[in-house]
Amino acid sequence: MASAQVVETSVTNNSPSQDSYHPDDLFQSRLCGKTAESIPHVLASCSALAQNKYLARHNAALKVLFWEMLRELQLSDTVPPWYSPAVPKPIYESPKAQAYWDIPVFAVSEQVKQNRVDARFIDHEKKKVLAVEMSCPWTENRGKKQEEKTIKYGPLCWELKQQFPGYDIRQYNIIIDVLGGWSTEVDEAMRELFGARGGEILLRMQRAVISHTLNIARTLKVMS
Ligand SMILES: [Zn+2]
Repeated sequence: MASAQVVETSVTNNSPSQDSYHPDDLFQSRLCGKTAESIPHVLASCSALAQNKYLARHNAALKVLFWEMLRELQLSDTVPPWYSPAVPKPIYESPKAQAYWDIPVFAVSEQVKQNRVDARFIDHEKKKVLAVEMSCPWTENRGKKQEEKTIKYGPLCWELKQQFPGYDIRQYNIIIDVLGGWSTEVDEAMRELFGARGGEILLRMQRAVISHTLNIARTLKVMS
């Protein structure tokens, strides 16, 4: 089937672009039946995959950051490997810090109102609140996602300011596209969060994303 070839191409080609499929090859998504099946659709925006496959990818990458930050804040002393199935607890607390792990409402429709962040850390010693948003869009939507996230979470940052007067409120958008790419903003965010270790942590997050994307591509191939 043509679609199987399309997906295989996406896995073997390091830099797929709009050129890697042709509009004539498109047909309705076998999974959701809503729109044309294409590489961007299957790997990043099929509603039938959003609640499980994309969420698993999103959480796998975010977990790497979360465990590391728990250790930084001395809320935990172990960091499971990037492929570990371990799931964080919703809340970690000490007199000095708090951490909140929130399973996000994965919105296929960009219109859905978000009122929480994926992960939130409160460092009472440094008087800092870190709000971390993670997303794994299609490669070409990376810039758009960054903008969206910033606009969407403005009100939330304001709310946090009211809750923690005198604290420095920071929002970090960690956007790693489905093929593992990221922008310099993400490099900077990781450096701000983890100092010199940021780059290495980001590489582990990238591994988590790519491994899940490969899994999604393989699932589709099996179906065809
Ligand atoms: Zn679909």
